[in-house]
Amino acid sequence: MNAEPTVSEVVNTTDLETRVAELGREISADYGDRRPVLVAVLVGSLPFVADLVRNIEVEVETDFLALSRFGEGGRIRIALDTSLPLEGRHVIIVEDIVDTGLTLTVLRRMLADRGAASVATIALLDKVPRRVVDVPLEYRGFEVGDEFLIGYGLDFEGLYRNLPSLWAVLDRDVLASRPEEVARYLYPGR
Ligand code: 5GP
Repeated sequence: MNAEPTVSEVVNTTDLETRVAELGREISADYGDRRPVLVAVLVGSLPFVADLVRNIEVEVETDFLALSRFGEGGRIRIALDTSLPLEGRHVIIVEDIVDTGLTLTVLRRMLADRGAASVATIALLDKVPRRVVDVPLEYRGFEVGDEFLIGYGLDFEGLYRNLPSLWAVLDRDVLASRPEEVARYLYPGR
């Protein structure tokens, strides 16, 4: 089987680079000397925040948190917290992708409850057709459809985050059952 029909590149590295630079300029212009704190949600936002922060041309701090899901209904809790106190700070949550919007809704509330002066969100990807709750998204890189995406931070079972561009998975069963074939296609140099 050829893995090509299973995965398809949806955003290439040039378009990612261009868009992330634009977002960095937008944040610089909007925040000026307010010294925002980027709070990046691990692990998926890692490549995005690394590129974004280097395109922000004003003073900015960067911190991280990680979430874990528990119970039925996908409740979330903070598994790894920020090291900076956020009281009085202008917080920008950095997410890889907003899907139903449930995670972001809870996270925004958690950070606002810490007395942040403002809370905004930047997400690289906005999966509009899947939204269940209406949550504000001040900055977004790309609007995407209902496909499952991997690469540039996004994983399938922990893998593929290191791909430099974004791919849609057209058949998740193939990815799960024959990962070797897909890897040969996605990592041609190995
Ligand atoms: P939400 O609470 O908005 O439904 O969930 C957002 C989270 O779901 C993202 O941070 C990400 O971890 C996961 N997610 C949603 N869509 C995708 C996707 O297409 N690919 C991957 N790898 N994860 C996704």
